[in-house]
Amino acid sequence: MISYAQLLENAAGELEKAGVEDAKMNARELLGKAIGLDCRSFEFGQRLDENADSAVQGEFESLCKRRIDGEPLQYLIGEWEFYGLTLKVGEGVLIPRQDTETLVDTVLKKAPKDRPLTVIDLCSGSGCIALALEKNLDCEQVIGVELSDEALEYMKQNIRLNGSRVKAVKGDVTLRETADILPLADVITANPPYLTSEDMKVLQREVTFEPESALFGGEDGLDFYRHILINFKDRLRQGGLIAFEIGIGQEDEVMTMLVRHGFENVRANNDACGIFRCITGFKK
Ligand code: GLN
Repeated sequence: MISYAQLLENAAGELEKAGVEDAKMNARELLGKAIGLDCRSFEFGQRLDENADSAVQGEFESLCKRRIDGEPLQYLIGEWEFYGLTLKVGEGVLIPRQDTETLVDTVLKKAPKDRPLTVIDLCSGSGCIALALEKNLDCEQVIGVELSDEALEYMKQNIRLNGSRVKAVKGDVTLRETADILPLADVITANPPYLTSEDMKVLQREVTFEPESALFGGEDGLDFYRHILINFKDRLRQGGLIAFEIGIGQEDEVMTMLVRHGFENVRANNDACGIFRCITGFKK
């Protein structure tokens, strides 16, 4: 007989040996998944001294093996937290990153406060940005636009599970017709694919499990910013806010694009580590 605590310790050692970062935390999350309890809960801690159930042990060992083979922890758990919301994730949708919370913080600070807002989130994926804004801003309506059917299903599920009023719409941001069916907005946000051809060659192993269509932004990584500015600039009201997440080092190019398209007060906004993560501008 082996206790859950012992299983946890063994698995953490195996994960560590296999080069998994934060091996202890990974092992705890996966054991929580196998037992069916949040590994941060008091109840989980209470179970650790019990003898392991053999079915749970089997499930836990298979999850650990998949993790060692590179599957992202978030896909194995099936959900992840973003801006205090629990969101379903899995193969076919980009995992919400903590980096993206900078974009949400920035929009909450800069969005007009004098009226309920219409917000359009492009390349919405799991819907993380759209749901966080709907929850924390005074909104008339929030629309999440996503091309991939698989990702759109996750967004719809996340809307239901969080009791959100976000409306999920299928659409390709590289086409003008997508903009034509949308209302005039006070805020447009996007975390588009922005990795370059070079970046795609050196992806972290976990990231190779995520959809390429959510990562690759063309040779220089900037294709989607070009499409979005051309197709959606007219969907923004005068004085409206645009906010883009960017890849590390893309700030000057993306700010130049916004200025060329006539936006004012164009700024790069940094995260807590001082890295520019988000570009904002206001429509004249
Ligand atoms: N931030 C993601 C990464 O570093 C990229 C997501 C995107 O292209 N928007 O892998």
